[in-house]
Amino acid sequence: MREGILVINAGSSSIKFSLYISEGNEPPLLSCKGQVEGINVAPHFIAKAPHGGVLNEQRWPDQPNMSHEALFKYMIDWIEAQLGDAELKAAGHRVVHGGSQYSQPLLVTDELMEELERLVPLAPLHQPHNLAPIRALTKVHPDLPQVACFDTAFHRSNPWTAQSFALPRKITGEGVKRYGFHGLSYEYIARQLRKLSPATARGKVIVCHLGSGASMCAIDGGKSVASTMGFTAVEGLPMGTRTGSMDAGVVLYLLQQKGMTPKEVEDLLYKQSGLLGVSGVSNDMRILLESSEPHAAEAVELFVYRIGRELGSLAAAMGGLDAIVFTAGIGERSPQIREKVCGHAEWLGVEIDDEANRHDAMLISAADSPVSVWVIPTDEEMMIAKHTREVLRNLQD
Ligand code: AMP
Repeated sequence: MREGILVINAGSSSIKFSLYISEGNEPPLLSCKGQVEGINVAPHFIAKAPHGGVLNEQRWPDQPNMSHEALFKYMIDWIEAQLGDAELKAAGHRVVHGGSQYSQPLLVTDELMEELERLVPLAPLHQPHNLAPIRALTKVHPDLPQVACFDTAFHRSNPWTAQSFALPRKITGEGVKRYGFHGLSYEYIARQLRKLSPATARGKVIVCHLGSGASMCAIDGGKSVASTMGFTAVEGLPMGTRTGSMDAGVVLYLLQQKGMTPKEVEDLLYKQSGLLGVSGVSNDMRILLESSEPHAAEAVELFVYRIGRELGSLAAAMGGLDAIVFTAGIGERSPQIREKVCGHAEWLGVEIDDEANRHDAMLISAADSPVSVWVIPTDEEMMIAKHTREVLRNLQD
């Protein structure tokens, strides 16, 4: 029987979906994907075939404030009409925060929803938007199994030291610690690497997830042991519009001396900084690499410098380095950035093959490089689909 698995990734102004069809033990196959965006401003639904052809598009110019629920219902009705002879078996959701306790995807229950609700203060910008479609789908399909897949789960294998700030125990005990994010991406890459090169996957690997959000993860023998993101997704590397790590004293200065409000500081740290703030030009790496503005070049230089430093730090956390993997928008598509980053890592034994790098080959290290360097496309939605199917199978067993 052909089984439909719906994957939902919801944010503050958009709900993305991917519909997978799976048959027997074959891996799930993407059937279509799309999103509702511009929620509360100018709602727009678009659905595409796996290779990009538009299947359906809809706007509601007369109803800019159309409710979340009505838009969600439109999306679900459209998706169900695409199932053909397949049956919708389950839905998997990206949930940004699973706290300290959840290290695996879980079947959604009322009790789990209560626990996830309790984690909202840890991720107030994301968690409520991740939970809303779970509730909306429960209303439409009360019996459909739903699975929560956490972006923090993969990092729960980090040792205590990697998860802790040097804060008083009482505050750490309240959950102020390093959780790490982009876990679904890292888990997908770890699985892909195991298929491509089992020996490499058994070793010490640093994955650089370089997209509009950017982070790095040290994976030793397939398990996350350290990562650059911490309590929130603003720690670590400079990103498209986020600062990355910064002396916490700067926040005090902004609040106490400049009189900024917490909301203004949040906006500065998340939306006005990073590549955009440093360059004054754009948050898009493609534009910066083509720009002749000196500040654009400096933004790129700072991004690369900080990746180079984190390579040293994460290699130290593992006590060695066997491989580097580049992934996400910049990592998968920018030979220039990969070359610059690898230039910073020569001391670690990294040497790339320029020709292979220029062509976005899968393996871009020189034949005699002691550290192998890979380019592996990530697919968080596929990871969620696989997790959802695994949870479903365990339920049926
Ligand atoms: P992601 O968040 O993984 O979708 O990555 C999005 C980012 O990837 C964009 O903001 C761009 O800066 C970057 N990007 C995409 N294509 C390229 C490219 N060919 N060269 C450099 N950066 C790119």
